[in-house]
Amino acid sequence: MKIITRFAPSPTGYLHIGGVRTALFNWLFAKKHGGLFKLRIEDTDLKRSTTEAKKAIIDGLEWMDLKWDGDIIYQSERLERHREIVDILLEKGHAYKCYCSPEELEEMRAQAKAEKRAPRYNGKWRNLSSNLAPSDVNPVIRIKCPQTGSTILKDLVQGEINIKNTELDDFIIMRSDGTPTYMLSVVVDDYDMEVSHVIRGVDHLTNTIRQQQIYNAMEWDIPIYSHIPLIHGMDGSKLSKRHGALGINAYKEMGYLTESMLNYLLRLGWSHGDKEIFSRNEAKELFNLESIGKSSAKFDIDKLNSLNSMYINKIDNKDLSDYINKLYKKDSINLNDKQLKLIINGLNGIKARARTIIELKEMTSFYTAKTPIPLDKKSQKVLSSENIKLLINYSPFLEKLEEWTKNKIEENIKSYCNSININLGKLAQPLRAATTGKSVSPGLYEVMEVLGKEETLNRIQNINN
Ligand code: GLU
Repeated sequence: MKIITRFAPSPTGYLHIGGVRTALFNWLFAKKHGGLFKLRIEDTDLKRSTTEAKKAIIDGLEWMDLKWDGDIIYQSERLERHREIVDILLEKGHAYKCYCSPEELEEMRAQAKAEKRAPRYNGKWRNLSSNLAPSDVNPVIRIKCPQTGSTILKDLVQGEINIKNTELDDFIIMRSDGTPTYMLSVVVDDYDMEVSHVIRGVDHLTNTIRQQQIYNAMEWDIPIYSHIPLIHGMDGSKLSKRHGALGINAYKEMGYLTESMLNYLLRLGWSHGDKEIFSRNEAKELFNLESIGKSSAKFDIDKLNSLNSMYINKIDNKDLSDYINKLYKKDSINLNDKQLKLIINGLNGIKARARTIIELKEMTSFYTAKTPIPLDKKSQKVLSSENIKLLINYSPFLEKLEEWTKNKIEENIKSYCNSININLGKLAQPLRAATTGKSVSPGLYEVMEVLGKEETLNRIQNINN
């Protein structure tokens, strides 16, 4: 069987991280089996679909490096085909026109409520002759669902689902304005795209039972379904804004790396023993639908942060500096070669503490600063006139140092302190303030080594206080 999966987002807002996880599972499954992963943008709701939302889907998938095969399919461009299927269903007697007024439908709902039943259409026009049709009402079209027996779904994640057909009602497949409903379009598109496996959120489970009625009526083979559990917040409730950002783009902006996001989303609901770290290739090799859990996954930002930090530390400094450089460019700052070199050389002492690329950029900002460098409040305090004098007196001693390594720098500082009989901290503190402008920084000797002799002396001689 040729494996074809698809991701079918509706472009009505940001690209939700839950959607990205769905896309990832579909992509991994297809790629593992040498199949195709297709992208269908379900933009039939013209009022709610926006160009920005379409762009967010494309940008998000591109950022995650989840490449789809072939062209994007826009559902709105397939209306004619959807209508054609509605006509066939009507012709075959599997669908019918329903002329019920909104008042009648409201009455049905109210009655169902009073009888504590789920609201259902009562099938009024199922057997009525269209001769009785009111001339001033545009009908909707409903599918005829079976009234006996049951519909069985063999879901690879949820197991076997058995629904009595008496629980189904004849749902609408075409609205009175002639537009097909989601329920119909999704079936026709999945069929035409030859989708073999549908992997989507468990919130679509009841839709699937209904969509099966259309497959059956058309005598089409049903794809293999996997309904994956939703993502919840740490408090167990459905993931919502109060748990943090929901759009994938926000995570990119916050400085997460594609590969840590991929690793993180992969583990949201899927597992392989107790393995936590997966490269993209490993994920492709090991991913399977059987190991998707049934219970909802919890979105844990601390776990994402620690994964991101781990990935940051795996990347070499040159590549990390490219990420940082991009962030500067976004702020319209062009770093020169010297600044970039300082970042690359300085990253070793910094990256272990950074959780995101944004943090990393902030932590390296003292390297890229131009003299006189900005001083934080504490550094301003440390750099009293007395301490500036101490630094100025010390600098000729430092200038004599030829071998500019952190060990030699340390020796130099210590021996100067000895010679004038002061504690190491007395000199180290103002030195740190003068060279970094910060009261917290990587090791002072390392910072000085990375800055180089000229820049270190330059900073000491140009304190802006
Ligand atoms: N467009 C639907 C949604 O965004 C998904 C449809 C599907 O996966 O079948 O929820």
